[in-house]
Amino acid sequence: MRALDAAELLSLWDRGMPRHALDRAALLASAARPDWPADAVADLPLGTIGTSLLRLRAANFGPRIDAHVDCRHCGQRLALALDVAELLQDAPPETASTCAPPETEVAGLRVRAPSLRDLAAVAELAPADAADALLARCTLAGQPAALDADGRTQVDEALEALDPQADLAFSLNCVACGRQDMAQLDAGALLWDELCARASALLQQVHQLARHYGWSEAQILALPANRRAHYLALVESTS
Ligand SMILES: [Zn+2]
Repeated sequence: MRALDAAELLSLWDRGMPRHALDRAALLASAARPDWPADAVADLPLGTIGTSLLRLRAANFGPRIDAHVDCRHCGQRLALALDVAELLQDAPPETASTCAPPETEVAGLRVRAPSLRDLAAVAELAPADAADALLARCTLAGQPAALDADGRTQVDEALEALDPQADLAFSLNCVACGRQDMAQLDAGALLWDELCARASALLQQVHQLARHYGWSEAQILALPANRRAHYLALVESTS
């Protein structure tokens, strides 16, 4: 996975800003995997998308993720460190080619793993309606509305097993109440937040160097990062 250069990162930031979070995840996945046809990304299995986003994250911001999550039982804010390599230990190799969402037969239905396009189609619905609408979209044969509770559980478990990397879950031990819990990592949101922070820092650098030296934005962004940092230190030492 390659690191984005400064101009590329700002271009992604420009294009991602007005988009919905799911559409942004597709944009970032396309940047991670320029070899994938851009119009196919929204139909790939979610695990494939999440894996590409985590690899892009590791290449640009390092393999360690420092995050915070609030305990659902007592509200305590917990700091946690995640390792991208650990999250991806069962993921297919980086060079794996794309595939259509995998399918299976369960409880009288033929179902496929969901994609970003499916999530986007149900994003505006209430959670219970969204789950039903998502299953209806992902049912290739059979009547999901006719399922009883047992059948529904079987289908939900089968869908999880179809695309295990879609679920970037990790366990939490609360230091305050001692309870154990599971939390989910949203790789798209994490990467977007970090990309925004870096874009903002880059613009600040452009602002300072342009004001001092009169260079254009393109000239400043084309400088290697360490040379840019050196000039910034010079500007600061003389002001
Ligand atoms: Zn707690």
